[in-house]
Amino acid sequence: MERISNYYTATLNDTVEYPPLDGDITVDIAIVGGGLTGVASAVEFAERGFSVALCEANRIGWGASGRNGGQVTGSLSGDKAMLAQLRKKQGVDAEDFVWHLRWEGHNIIRERIARYDIACDLTPGHLHTAWRTADIAELKQTVDTAHSYGMEDDVSWLTKEEVHDKLDTPLYHGGILNKRSFHLHSLNLCVGEACAAASLGAQLFEQTPVVKLVGGRSPKLITSNGTIHAKKIILAGNAYHRLARKQLKGLLFPAILGNMTTEPLSDELAQQINKHNLAVYDSRMVLDYYRLTADNRLMFGGGTNYSGRDIQDVAKTLMPALVNTFPALANTKIDYAWTGTAGIVMNRIPLVGKCDRHVYYAQGYSGHGIATSHILAEVLAEALTGTLEKFDVFADFKHNKVPGTEWLGNGMLALGMWYYQFKEKLAG
Ligand SMILES: Cc1cc2nc3c(=O)[nH]c(=O)nc-3n(C[C@H](O)[C@H](O)[C@H](O)COP(=O)(O)OP(=O)(O)OC[C@H]3O[C@@H](n4cnc5c(N)ncnc54)[C@H](O)[C@@H]3O)c2cc1C
Repeated sequence: MERISNYYTATLNDTVEYPPLDGDITVDIAIVGGGLTGVASAVEFAERGFSVALCEANRIGWGASGRNGGQVTGSLSGDKAMLAQLRKKQGVDAEDFVWHLRWEGHNIIRERIARYDIACDLTPGHLHTAWRTADIAELKQTVDTAHSYGMEDDVSWLTKEEVHDKLDTPLYHGGILNKRSFHLHSLNLCVGEACAAASLGAQLFEQTPVVKLVGGRSPKLITSNGTIHAKKIILAGNAYHRLARKQLKGLLFPAILGNMTTEPLSDELAQQINKHNLAVYDSRMVLDYYRLTADNRLMFGGGTNYSGRDIQDVAKTLMPALVNTFPALANTKIDYAWTGTAGIVMNRIPLVGKCDRHVYYAQGYSGHGIATSHILAEVLAEALTGTLEKFDVFADFKHNKVPGTEWLGNGMLALGMWYYQFKEKLAG
């Protein structure tokens, strides 16, 4: 399938097409999926001198990586659950491990963009706003932690008045300003990284769904027109793949997220609503997220549907929240509205591990995958070159499989999320 029509595809820099696989090949590393996890892994392995082949069922960046909010923040999904599990272990300084992990993806992305000259509108600045006064204490605690790690210059607390000086909104009771975080054009990043991998000799195949995975001693990926024999296989299909069900079923659930962009705003209006072009999300469990694009549109997302079913009319669903946030945009036209599927894990800790000796996977970033995909691509590359430290930490995290069908899993997730939303509504 071609990429869906959205803001990202309409402003894509590089329209290069990679051919479908035709015939049999042999490589060191074979990757399933051409989203950020797949292409970042391709770069990591190719940079280390491995021969790499990547199969993408549709087009590079067709999935969540070409549809997301573009926010690269310090939010690491599952951080609290990670801390709880790590504190019980000997030999790992839980707080340090999780804190440093938060920022590793930022560094990898910045370096990669610089090294391969990827034009993807990187814009610094993120604001994590307090939706309720009750959220202030926990957010301020995060600021204190950041300062204890020497991030005084990058992270600061903004009062309600200071937030309202930056955003023309009646919402929020304060917020964390983070200058280390940023936002970017996720599809241009993904396609740019694919191009970087190809320049290093990686073979990329689009319109090439992997129909069968064979593990064991002679691992291979089987497609309708050819087979890739590999020493190691990386599964990077996230919420869209159905491979290795025996090992992975019941661990990851698809959540449909809506996203949209307005028509381009005048410079004055863009300045008025978001003076410093910050990426913003709020402190709710099911949150709204937004930012300006390089051509002055407001990109606004939210309205998560955890049932696994598509959102029927994204613009209609999201418009009340957008107008509630920025009343000045009440009459603004929506040019693009779309959905994408994120992989949600019950305890939110990303799923990283091995299905067998030669088949690895990284998936399930619970809506925070731009940085995480890059962190885990590096973790996988390090693991396969002998540094197992971080891989082992991830692979050892406990995850509960939800018994029964995938539908039952999503039903439970939907119920859990409905409960959180209901609680947040009651709390105002
Ligand atoms: C609307 C939305 C907003 C989001 N906003 C943010 C945000 O602001 N910040 C953030 O950090 N994260 C955000 N996320 C999450 C982030 O986009 C994802 O975590 C990340 O893109 C996952 O990358 P991935 O490569 O693992 O998966 P994907 O990008 O989904 O890629 C998986 C790819 O695998 C391919 N594939 C699947 N099965 C096969 C097969 N059998 N053979 C070959 N190919 C296959 C698919 O076609 C797909 O292209 C958002 C997600 C959504 C949906």
